[in-house]
Amino acid sequence: MSPPVSAPYGWSKDSEPPAIEDVEKSPDDSPEPYEVDVDEWRIVSAECCACEEETTLYLEPGDDSAWEHDEQHPSHLVHYWRVE
Ligand SMILES: [Zn+2]
Repeated sequence: MSPPVSAPYGWSKDSEPPAIEDVEKSPDDSPEPYEVDVDEWRIVSAECCACEEETTLYLEPGDDSAWEHDEQHPSHLVHYWRVE
């Protein structure tokens, strides 16, 4: 069984969008706060819903890495929110 075809994240200006009208939109497509504005300094808070750990990430330009806890515990649901 093959996975359903999904649109790539960003279309280049030369390419045509698919002619499919009913492309399903997944709310999970929205990037996490640490993945946006990667060309500037960002302060992102994170909280793990599984073990209630919290942290604050100070992300320098070019850094789009997730919280270590999130990477070490993929099954944990971590909430991120932009502070500044
Ligand atoms: Zn956790």
